[in-house]
Amino acid sequence: MRLASTVAALVFCTAAAAAPNDVVRPYPAQQVSTGVYVIHGPQGVPSKANQSFMNNPAWVVTRDGVVVIDPGSSVQVGRMVAAQIRKTTDKPVTHVFDTHVHGDHWLGNQAILEAWPKATLIAHPDMIKQANNGAGAFWIKLMSDMTGGYTDGTRAEVPTIEAADGQEFRIGGKTFRIHSSTDAHSKTDLMIELVEDHILFTADNVLNHQVMNLRDGTFKGVMKATDRALALDAALYVPGHGKTGDRKFVEDQKAYFSTLMSEVRRMYDEGKSDYEMKPVIAEKLKAYRDWAEWDTNLGRQISLAILEIEQE
Ligand SMILES: [Zn+2]
Repeated sequence: MRLASTVAALVFCTAAAAAPNDVVRPYPAQQVSTGVYVIHGPQGVPSKANQSFMNNPAWVVTRDGVVVIDPGSSVQVGRMVAAQIRKTTDKPVTHVFDTHVHGDHWLGNQAILEAWPKATLIAHPDMIKQANNGAGAFWIKLMSDMTGGYTDGTRAEVPTIEAADGQEFRIGGKTFRIHSSTDAHSKTDLMIELVEDHILFTADNVLNHQVMNLRDGTFKGVMKATDRALALDAALYVPGHGKTGDRKFVEDQKAYFSTLMSEVRRMYDEGKSDYEMKPVIAEKLKAYRDWAEWDTNLGRQISLAILEIEQE
């Protein structure tokens, strides 16, 4: 009995702490510009197969240290990211920007703090508020459920430093300029402009070849953020999901959303329902049919667009 309960307690402790060797299989980092690296995660939702990894962790090696953007969806992903960072530099991670409240982007914070306990975590004020008021626990449970418990042991390490729209963080000779909003992809989103390098990290406000889950955002806000991203005329855009590229994929998203919204609006005015709209819109948007999450998110987007139009 005593042994059994000791074993049970040990198992519980192991699960609660996530053993240090719990790490997702490695994915290579791509150098997209001098000192700027992105691991392009697989596209899709968290699963047993992808071990929860499906975002684009990135880092910038500055004169004084490393700035990480979105260290991933679990402590197990974050450890893989930390190992890949160490292959590119001996410098410590000094700062982490978490682009928004969705846990696939920031639950890897724990692994960054394991490796570099002095790192400063930065996010949108509403991200910090939501993460402390239930969103952290919600995302930890969701990740665990979707991966069959693979991410267990992950804790919510919530940022403490707020980033405001227009604010500039000068770190190690580089300028990280914040472009934030309260009505875009998650209503807690930061886009981060790496000024000297003409790179924009769009977070989930712009995705490359992926139909967005807009459950927590607004079309109006995402379309505004997309326009803002284009107006910055960056040389490179790093999306929250999908490959890094030039402005072409940002323009693709703009075209996709403007077709979707104008079609929903037109048919809404004709009194059509969402199930009548879907085949018409799927035909109009057929050029985007190979985008990730098309089957899951197109119908949902139409329903959400109707709700948004009704609220105008
Ligand atoms: Zn997101």
